[in-house]
Amino acid sequence: MNIPFSPPYIDQSVIDEVMHTLDSKWITTGPKVVALEQEMVKATSCQKAICVNSWTSGAILMLKWFGIKPGDEVIIPAYTYCATALSVLHCGATPVIVDISDDFCIDHQQVRKAITSKTKAIIAVDIAGWPCNYDELNAIITSPEVRRMFVPATSKQKLLNRILLIADAAHSLGAKIDNEPASKKSDVAIFSFHAVKNITTAEGGCICLNLPDNFDTAAEYQFLRMYTLNGQNKDALSKSKGGGWKYDILFQGLKINMPDICAAVGLAQIRKYDDDLLPRRKLIALRYIKAFKSLPWFIAPPLFDKDRESSYHLFPLRIKDITEGQRDMIIDDIAKMGVAVNVHFIPLPMLTYFKGLGYQIANYPVAYHQYAREISLPIYPQLSDAEINFIIRTVIIAVQKQFIYLNGQAIQQDTDTVQQIGYAI
Ligand SMILES: *Cc1c(COP(=O)(O)O)cnc(C)c1O
Repeated sequence: MNIPFSPPYIDQSVIDEVMHTLDSKWITTGPKVVALEQEMVKATSCQKAICVNSWTSGAILMLKWFGIKPGDEVIIPAYTYCATALSVLHCGATPVIVDISDDFCIDHQQVRKAITSKTKAIIAVDIAGWPCNYDELNAIITSPEVRRMFVPATSKQKLLNRILLIADAAHSLGAKIDNEPASKKSDVAIFSFHAVKNITTAEGGCICLNLPDNFDTAAEYQFLRMYTLNGQNKDALSKSKGGGWKYDILFQGLKINMPDICAAVGLAQIRKYDDDLLPRRKLIALRYIKAFKSLPWFIAPPLFDKDRESSYHLFPLRIKDITEGQRDMIIDDIAKMGVAVNVHFIPLPMLTYFKGLGYQIANYPVAYHQYAREISLPIYPQLSDAEINFIIRTVIIAVQKQFIYLNGQAIQQDTDTVQQIGYAI
């Protein structure tokens, strides 16, 4: 068998939706984007949703919208994809990188310690789809002593009058807190529709607004829409109507709008998300848990507790008591047997660029410890039962080989190994 890590979900409904867009002759931002934004409002119960061409550009947009500039600080976790930090750097501001907790999410105690009078925003990352502890983060940013430290410099900062809480929800569409969409717990939740994410538009992202009542969200939507279109007061669709040629440029915007041809892919997928695609991800996660839970080396990823539920974007398995090198060997063995796995994530301070900026992994012991033991398994709706069983067996064989190799015992690397450790598929 040869099992890819995360192929996109392309069924006939996706193809039909794209063909409909092509037939309509309107391929850039238009009705499909509007329809996808409406679906996102429904899915997240947010006030307004704005589609853009990536998570990264959406994050840059929202930081710029809030007036983040050189001298400002934005607190982010060490355990994330580089885009979380790069969006801050693109605004000229400083990413203040803090360590994570055992559940992969930003450590709120470290967040509290990192806050200074320069702190303008926090970006919390819902790793693997597991929502961060937003109640704790909200308690911190609304506490009187933290509010007193906040120095508002722009009209939006004055209106909010506290640190902005952004959710890096790239993984967490469908995640729940208290039976509601988890994204409601942040001021701004940004989703990614990159090809590997739970819903994709090939490349794309969506900003969901949950701003306090003193913001005019409808006006902010209009402003942000313009911001995605070079600061132009008329979009291409209204300009294309007869007599609608006149436009103006009102400020230095970005060019980060989502084309309809991309929105069509996500639109067909999101209509099936709640009833079909997401439950199938959950079933696979439960199958993995059932298969591995009695094995002594298995550490389960956080999937649900009494308040929270994941969106099952990744299955970040951890293996007890192994080194980074042993983990790498296990991955090589799994790959040789035909299963593509991954590691989420290499902590930012281990990447050349961030090392060059002075961040050191030694200051992030939890992030390193999680990374060194982590392997992300394939988890997506198209996986068949036979494939899931094959993945389970492959992982067990590869891990067991590593342990046996460690203990210096000569047990063959074959299916007998699986039987010897008492696992029957
Ligand atoms: C994928 C991802 C991003 C970036 O998304 P793009 O749409 O590719 O810009 C940001 N943060 C996390 C945690 C991601 O996994």
